[in-house]
Amino acid sequence: MASAPAQDNNSAAKRVAVVGAGVSGLAAAYKLSQRGLNVTIFEAEERAGGKLKSVSHDGLIWDEGANTMTESEGNVSYLLDNLGLRDKQQFPISQHKRYIAKNGTPVLLPSNPIALIKSNILSTQSKIQLLLEPFLWKKNSNSKMSDKHESVGGFFRRHFGQEVVDHLIDPFVAGLNAGDPESLSMYHAFPDLWNLEKKFGSIIVGAVRSKISFKKGEGQGMNASSKSKRRKRGSFSFLGGMQTLTDALCEEVGKDKVNLQTRVLELSYPCSQESQLSNWSISYALDFDKHLKEQCFDAVIMTAPLCDVKQMKITKRGKPFVLDFIPEVSYMPLSVVITSFKKENVRRPLEGFGVLVPSKEQQNGLKSLGTLFSSMMFPDRTPSDLYLYTTFIGGSRNQELARASRDELKKIVAADLRQLLGAEGEPTFVNHLYWSKAFPLYGHDYNSVIGAIDKMEKDLPGFFYAGNHRGGLSVGKAISSGCKAADLVISYLDSSLENNLSRENCT
Ligand SMILES: Cc1cc2nc3c(=O)[nH]c(=O)nc-3n(C[C@H](O)[C@H](O)[C@H](O)COP(=O)(O)OP(=O)(O)OC[C@H]3O[C@@H](n4cnc5c(N)ncnc54)[C@H](O)[C@@H]3O)c2cc1C
Repeated sequence: MASAPAQDNNSAAKRVAVVGAGVSGLAAAYKLSQRGLNVTIFEAEERAGGKLKSVSHDGLIWDEGANTMTESEGNVSYLLDNLGLRDKQQFPISQHKRYIAKNGTPVLLPSNPIALIKSNILSTQSKIQLLLEPFLWKKNSNSKMSDKHESVGGFFRRHFGQEVVDHLIDPFVAGLNAGDPESLSMYHAFPDLWNLEKKFGSIIVGAVRSKISFKKGEGQGMNASSKSKRRKRGSFSFLGGMQTLTDALCEEVGKDKVNLQTRVLELSYPCSQESQLSNWSISYALDFDKHLKEQCFDAVIMTAPLCDVKQMKITKRGKPFVLDFIPEVSYMPLSVVITSFKKENVRRPLEGFGVLVPSKEQQNGLKSLGTLFSSMMFPDRTPSDLYLYTTFIGGSRNQELARASRDELKKIVAADLRQLLGAEGEPTFVNHLYWSKAFPLYGHDYNSVIGAIDKMEKDLPGFFYAGNHRGGLSVGKAISSGCKAADLVISYLDSSLENNLSRENCT
């Protein structure tokens, strides 16, 4: 191993290592570099961006990871404003038109509860149950409240019945995180709704009351500013796709700070046995050079998935810090299939965001989880004579199918799009990406995963964890997690500097 360069810890800018150049790591690095800290990012892959991956080819632009995001997190607004990305934001056309497959045909999803009652998505019995929910689930009634282990399916079944789970919740969670309602934990996957039940009993009453108090807040000084208006505009992407965001972050942090094809293998605290300073050494291997290299840092932000962290060797004060307390995390495999069709070959094209497919629709021959109408949302992403579609296959529902060959996936997508949209003949273009670990599953025992992350942070001084394994799976939540970790690092470094100074003053 190479020896670590000597450093003057009090005068030089503090050095922070960020492991992983996904959106959480890059957001953390950006925030730290804005505060004048010296950041180094290590990324195992040959590109930055992680699960944000946009491709441009032959006049087509598509995303193979996240397709859109929202501005529900304050840290997202901070990044968009500071990175100058407002001009590049792209809002999908007719984004509120979303469809659900029913009896093999796409049906427009009602946009509010009244429209849902009027639609033919649910039976009369389920509609009555929906209308009665505010009365049956009054706060302090004898109704059973959710415990922390309840599944998403169980939670919604109690409030609205099985049909709502089958036709609305099942496709929604498959579209959101490739999971299924019975495996997902309500407490971990939808904490806001879980809390709504705790507070109001009824989900419908809670949702209405929250909306009213949000509006009141807007009226009283949170004001109808352009910021909150933007938040309400819903999902968005960027010109060129979602990777525009991570590219901008890399640019701002400095490309020379992002070490690609550099896999972190070992971490050691403190940097050397003799060192009195609370710093870390990080050992990494470059793809083209199998010899380990080493660098010293004052703090570390880890954003690699937990399955990768488990492979790392951590040493604390010369002794192995064994990571056997990290439980096995289940990951959802997913294939993303991009197809384009000549417009004249699509007999029933639909305007809007996309169509979700409930599990039950497998009996009507549909095998995909859903399809985004990519060129309907963003017409500049394809030549004017083509439609571009992004279809998701696999997830918790069909893990084996996610691993199918490109030919098989192409047949599945062509068959589903023929049935749903009348897309005839062969697609003019097919591309496919298989994510073996697309999403960590926030399952019933996810408490143990959160506990393990907390333990690492507690037992390892100057070590912070960020990313989509804690606090939410969306791009916005990952950004928020990265920014929070950066704030914690800043406080940690400030307090260790104060401690060092007071120690010096005492001597
Ligand atoms: C197909 C798909 C579609 C999605 N769609 C949406 C969507 O529409 N909207 C939305 O909000 N969210 C969506 N998501 C979720 C969202 O994209 C992710 O949750 C988020 O991008 C995760 O960011 P992250 O930084 O936490 O992790 P990642 O992006 O996974 O980044 C972690 C990085 O760590 C690196 N790494 C791992 N091990 C090491 C090591 N030893 N050394 C160095 N580097 C290492 C990895 O290579 C990776 O780049 C989607 C995800 C997928 C897979």
